Amino acid sequence: MNILLIYTGGTIGMVQNAETGALESFDFQQLQQHVPELYTLGHHIDVHTFQPPIDSSDMTPDHWLQLRDIILEAYDRYDGFVVLHGTDTMAFTASALSFLLPGLTKPVIFTGSQLPVSQVRTDGRENLITAVEMAADTDAEGHPRVPEVCIYFERKLLRGNRATKINAEGFNAFRTHNFPPLATAGTHIIYKAPLPATPLGESPQQVDERVLQHSPKGGAGRGHLCTDIVVVTLFPGMSEEMFAAQVSAPALRAVILRTFGSGNAPQRPWLLNQLNLLRQRGVIVVNITQCDEGSVEMGRYQTSRLLLEAGVVPGYDSTWEAMLTKLMVLLACDLSREEVISLLLQSLAGEITPS
Ligand code: ASP
Repeated sequence: MNILLIYTGGTIGMVQNAETGALESFDFQQLQQHVPELYTLGHHIDVHTFQPPIDSSDMTPDHWLQLRDIILEAYDRYDGFVVLHGTDTMAFTASALSFLLPGLTKPVIFTGSQLPVSQVRTDGRENLITAVEMAADTDAEGHPRVPEVCIYFERKLLRGNRATKINAEGFNAFRTHNFPPLATAGTHIIYKAPLPATPLGESPQQVDERVLQHSPKGGAGRGHLCTDIVVVTLFPGMSEEMFAAQVSAPALRAVILRTFGSGNAPQRPWLLNQLNLLRQRGVIVVNITQCDEGSVEMGRYQTSRLLLEAGVVPGYDSTWEAMLTKLMVLLACDLSREEVISLLLQSLAGEITPS
């Protein structure tokens, strides 16, 4: 199998600076030195390195477009893609790529590590080797086992746009609170085959046409995603002044409202007034729960029925990483407000379970 390994940066490829003690990226060739087993798997592996490799805190939407372009340019020559990426913003990049590569038919597997691969107790070696194995795995008919954007970490393969970083230290850095793992790696790799990333009853081509015809064109410096979005977390005692300050930018296109429980908000007249003002400005407001697990169910309580009446869109069981990147992509496309809302309510790449 032909695999393209794309090294963007992150802890996996870092060494400690002897003078400052800080972790810094090193030349990718040294990674080959540290993981010689990679080249005994029997696959042809080519490497593409970001110049310079970056800490994932420095990732921008332009880098996501650059990554999308690298994959699309190489798409026909490779059977699968493994992206080495820092863990801090990996869930954002994986989510964005799932929307930027509609109709994907090959594995794009993100991985990284909590300890540099140069250290004895590193988790990077296993993560990298198994990610390459999974990217190359096919079923009895020769089809890729996981033709979607995934994250492989600590023996679990997760749907990328369902994942969240949950641990700043432990090797179990990621979890998909609302979706089962796609595969687990023990003595054997066991694929679980839950619901496919493409909505049931809809072919990848249909999704392709609907989104791709409006898709932002080009890579870094040519096309851009829309970043005129704010994430507002409600808290008991929040004042109108503090809320209004967060949504005051004239360029604002969307608000992700992080609400309580199953999508509830305080029944304050000022909040409804602010939401109505946002609707009048054409700003889309999406409701996401602050809970890790479960879904927004608007209308279940009076406190969320009011939001529904103010035109707030339910985000269902989306992670905020997936909702943010979905909005960034959709708002960059040539779509009306109504079309964006209609696509927000649908699963485009397996990112939500609409009720
Ligand atoms: N700060 C690093 C990054 O996200 C952490 C990591 O790689 O795990 O690039």
